[in-house]
Amino acid sequence: MELVLTNLSLIALGGCLGSFASMLIYRLPLEDVGITIFKPRSFCPLCKNKLTILQLIPFVGYVYSQGICKTCNAKINSSYLINEVLIAAFVLLIFNKMELTNPVAWSVVLIVMCLYIQSLIDMQTMHLFQPLSLILVVSGLTLNISTSFFTIPLDSMLGLIFGYGILFCINEVYKMIRSRDGIGSGDFLLLGGIGSIFGASALGPILLIGSSITLCLYAVNKNKDGELPLGFGIGIGAIFYCLLFLFLSIK
Ligand SMILES: [Zn+2]
Repeated sequence: MELVLTNLSLIALGGCLGSFASMLIYRLPLEDVGITIFKPRSFCPLCKNKLTILQLIPFVGYVYSQGICKTCNAKINSSYLINEVLIAAFVLLIFNKMELTNPVAWSVVLIVMCLYIQSLIDMQTMHLFQPLSLILVVSGLTLNISTSFFTIPLDSMLGLIFGYGILFCINEVYKMIRSRDGIGSGDFLLLGGIGSIFGASALGPILLIGSSITLCLYAVNKNKDGELPLGFGIGIGAIFYCLLFLFLSIK
């Protein structure tokens, strides 16, 4: 019984974090000064009507609304529910492997949330939110220097340098040939942050998974003229790598 209650609490916590992630994915790229991450209260993007308390409850809100706004009947994007489910699944997984009181587990949750939010912002806007990448750099260095959780401190520092440097150099070569940028500068810092977390040795596999995901997205996308969201690919690739690491290293 205690286990069931613990898992239900973890699902509720994950749902709240997923709902918070949805809010950040929607609001961080906005240039509207009237909408910040602190105010106003969540609203329907179409009719701007504020959501009720019941509609704000993770999982329940979407099911209760049956996926449509009660005021204007606009369809509510199912990504809100998907974000809540995915983050809740991750929270459930990590706290079934690590203690709730373990600060390292919370650092991993912060890292995965930043990677997830950054990936979805890139997919939707083709831009990355640099402060999130800076959080990744600081978290990666702090975590590995203090606990060597993902890798040893030297590998973490090399990961930051090589992660940033690889994409920077590829872009410089591309610029010499085509006289324009081929990779957004936001991607340099994101891969630097990922390198600082998982180490230089992990950059190869993450880049491989990431570019494969980006190319798959390109293959299924009807608009072939658009840019490719590389940040989305490497962000999701890093989350896959993190899951693999947690499965294999923590018994
Ligand atoms: Zn509405």
